[in-house]
Amino acid sequence: MPKTALVISAHAADFVWRCGGAIALHAEKGYEVTVLCLSFGERGESAKLWKQEGMTLDRVKDARRAEAERAAEALGVHDLVCLDLGDYPLELTRADKDRVVEVLRRVQPSFMLSHSQYDPYNTDHSYATQVALECRMIAQAWGHEPGQKVLGAPQLYLFEPHQTEQMGWKPDTFLDITPVWDRKRAAIECMEGQEHLWDYYTRVAQNRANHFKRNSGGQSGGRDCRYAEGFQSIFPRTVDEL
Ligand SMILES: [Zn+2]
Repeated sequence: MPKTALVISAHAADFVWRCGGAIALHAEKGYEVTVLCLSFGERGESAKLWKQEGMTLDRVKDARRAEAERAAEALGVHDLVCLDLGDYPLELTRADKDRVVEVLRRVQPSFMLSHSQYDPYNTDHSYATQVALECRMIAQAWGHEPGQKVLGAPQLYLFEPHQTEQMGWKPDTFLDITPVWDRKRAAIECMEGQEHLWDYYTRVAQNRANHFKRNSGGQSGGRDCRYAEGFQSIFPRTVDEL
């Protein structure tokens, strides 16, 4: 059985900027990575499309879905699941959460990825993480849909938010994504509606690469790295050696 991972993305493009490198890297390592987009970001993260004459909600959603599909293909995503639950605000019913739980139990991820826990600019993002934690908990409950395979204890990594310091987000893990940078940049360029972010997220990856180098030993045997992504983990690790 191949290893698996699950990304829970509030909007269609978030997985690209924030963990596209992690997705492509693990896909190359043989992981089957599922991306769950709770919404398309059709109302709140599609300004460039809305500035076009005669735009409708359905046309924006179609365009965002097409972009997300192209980006997922560039990254080697195994399965892109779009729940189309609406954005700004994103709100899930109990039945919607059961669909997320079903995905969690089906995928049985080795690790999960989602947003920062606090985001005053974009409450959809922090809400997605609250949903991820709630659904992880339900998926672990033996009394929920008895007979199904219950979920183990996958780590939840929080990927880097847009205005890092404002979100109280503090990375404890840096992932070298240099070998797959071209794939991440290709996926970024699928996001035609948000061209203003392409170079910004390239610089974020270069800055995080510097932190990777420093924390891997710096001038005393540190590893070279050109592009990296940072993550904050929620749960402790269980180890036999430090
Ligand atoms: Zn978003």
